[in-house]
Amino acid sequence: MILPEKYSALSGISTPAYVVDSDALEKNLKALKRVEDASGCSILLALKGFSAYALFPLIRKYLGGTTSSGINEAKLAREYFGGEIHVYNPAFTRAEICELASFANTIVFNSQSQLDKFRDLAAETAKKCGRGKIGIGLRVNPQYSEIETEIYNPCAAGSRLGALRGSLRKDFADKIDMLHFHAMCEQNSDVLGRVVSHFENIFGDAIRKVSEVNFGGGHHITKDGYDIGLLVKTVSDFYKRYPNIKKIYLEPGEAVALNAGIFAARVLEISKNGRDIAILDCSAPCHMPDVLEMPYRPPVLGGAMPGEKKHTYELAGRSCLAGDRIGIYSFDEPLKEGDMLLFGDMAHYTMVKTTTFNGVNLPDIATFSPSKNEFKILKKFGYEEFKSRL
Ligand SMILES: *Cc1c(COP(=O)(O)O)cnc(C)c1O
Repeated sequence: MILPEKYSALSGISTPAYVVDSDALEKNLKALKRVEDASGCSILLALKGFSAYALFPLIRKYLGGTTSSGINEAKLAREYFGGEIHVYNPAFTRAEICELASFANTIVFNSQSQLDKFRDLAAETAKKCGRGKIGIGLRVNPQYSEIETEIYNPCAAGSRLGALRGSLRKDFADKIDMLHFHAMCEQNSDVLGRVVSHFENIFGDAIRKVSEVNFGGGHHITKDGYDIGLLVKTVSDFYKRYPNIKKIYLEPGEAVALNAGIFAARVLEISKNGRDIAILDCSAPCHMPDVLEMPYRPPVLGGAMPGEKKHTYELAGRSCLAGDRIGIYSFDEPLKEGDMLLFGDMAHYTMVKTTTFNGVNLPDIATFSPSKNEFKILKKFGYEEFKSRL
């Protein structure tokens, strides 16, 4: 297996390994910065999708802050990212609010009840810590999304994510600074336009009472074919319709790290059951769970659809889970023990989701800059990390 030219320097690295391509990451960041400059929005990195903090200094050059799903991500943001820290959770505990109010800039609540329980506590705690006003946000459910994968659809029937208009008291908007929705996943700006109009239909009066809105994540801004012009227009027009709105936030995770990393694995064994099966030194459930969860077929550099090239294999993981099967791919040359395979687009929603299920080792984490030909190992894991979680 011959590696693509750009990554040929990686042929000797130990595997499995996530390798963040810092050139590709920076290219994404520049695109996001252009969106900020053209539209006046503020873009936060959603740490849920990408939290490899060794890259935070690079990201911080372009983005002013982060959004966290809870206290641990928020602490990571404080320690390694700085800037503006937003945090949302479907249900905070009292202790978390006390701690978060000492350093977070905006806390986004998920319901009228969370707002009632913790709004004043957050404000008072922030004051006691000698800080200025802490921003209070409320995530609402715009009751419209175009996400077809049910487990990724926050507007699905029965969803707990975001308050329904009917669950809110008349005066709710007087108690908050920001309205927040998150109702997209890997989508283009035309979808945003439609979500925003539903958001306005349901919450238009409330939007006029707050000073900030957050359009959530799921914007595929850095993907080829994304209509950046329409995004910029949607944001700019929103500012014009609501002169009271001082800040519109977007909080993408995936778009920041899209196509900004590969996952390197090696063939351990070739076996046969009907077709040829290549057992790799990695695992779908442990290292790229979205392959099974979404589910999707990850790109393999140099790999094609079954039968398209001369030699076809099913790529499978080394865990004992029967379903640890990555997909069927064909190659120009036969695969053999020790061959390296590179999976594409493996920076986001991978490292943040790994498990040591089945005792499978966690992959190394590394960075590589093709333009500088610089490879650096950031982390290696072994038995201790497996043991420490149990
Ligand atoms: C997951 C999530 C994001 C980021 O979504 P991406 O699809 O990675 O852009 C942003 N905001 C909230 C509330 C989320 O849950």
